Amino acid sequence: MEAPAAKKMTVSDEVAIEIRGMNKWYGQFHVLRDIDLTVFRGERIVVCGPSGSGKSTLIRCINALEEHQKGSIVVDGTRLTSDLKNIDKIRSEVGMCFQHFNLFPHLTILENCTLAPIHVRKTPKREAIETAMHFLEKVKIPDQAGKYPGQLSGGQQQRVAIARSLCMKPRIMLFDEPTSALDPEMIKEVLDTMIELAEEGMTMICVTHEMGFAQAVANRVIFMADGQIVEQNEPTRFFNNPQSERTKQFLSQII
Ligand code: ADP
Ligand code: MG
Repeated sequence: MEAPAAKKMTVSDEVAIEIRGMNKWYGQFHVLRDIDLTVFRGERIVVCGPSGSGKSTLIRCINALEEHQKGSIVVDGTRLTSDLKNIDKIRSEVGMCFQHFNLFPHLTILENCTLAPIHVRKTPKREAIETAMHFLEKVKIPDQAGKYPGQLSGGQQQRVAIARSLCMKPRIMLFDEPTSALDPEMIKEVLDTMIELAEEGMTMICVTHEMGFAQAVANRVIFMADGQIVEQNEPTRFFNNPQSERTKQFLSQII
């Protein structure tokens, strides 16, 4: 699909995420191999690759939803260890948005957005509500605040999920195929929300196969296969002149 051209976005030389020699196993299965990745503040990185290549696992390691066994991950200067204090700090700085929105079905949209700020961040309720309404306006559904997730379309629910993440004031957003469970007509409204975030300077890593989005918004595209980063480049070069056979084969299947 074609995404609208994003405005000029700048990348700083400040490191947001530093991954060095990172390996992860699920039991005997070596799922991530020698991952090296430096993400600078303001970068918009798109991660693509075949199913099972380890994209979700990589994303989940970055906010410590999964443990890694070798190498290091440093997020905003905090090294990820099994120390729970660190994990809380990382999770409060890194927002995550999944394919399935994972909203609480028995809570209203507003309550979904204020739950973590009130109970995890200890934000006063009034302030949490103000913040939630601010972000619901930003994703263009303030009028849905009193409804329950089941009353909203898939695209609206995903925008609530994004707003809910933003309510925690993250400095980094991770997206794992946020549009792949959506009907085609709803994909654009979610991508538009993500484009706006990018334009505001949010550091983002997005696993997605929306190559129009990658071309318009990403400053770097990473291709993964078999648990490794095979190739990475700025989008024009990545799409027009892929280097490895694996990348060429993948691109020929999806474009
Ligand atoms: P992708 O997101 O690129 O499709 P994943 O990171 O989900 O890939 O999975 C990478 C590989 O790890 C796949 O072979 C998958 O079956 C396996 N895997 C994922 N999660 C687990 C798990 N919790 N336990 C064991 N194997 C897993
Ligand atoms: Mg995945």
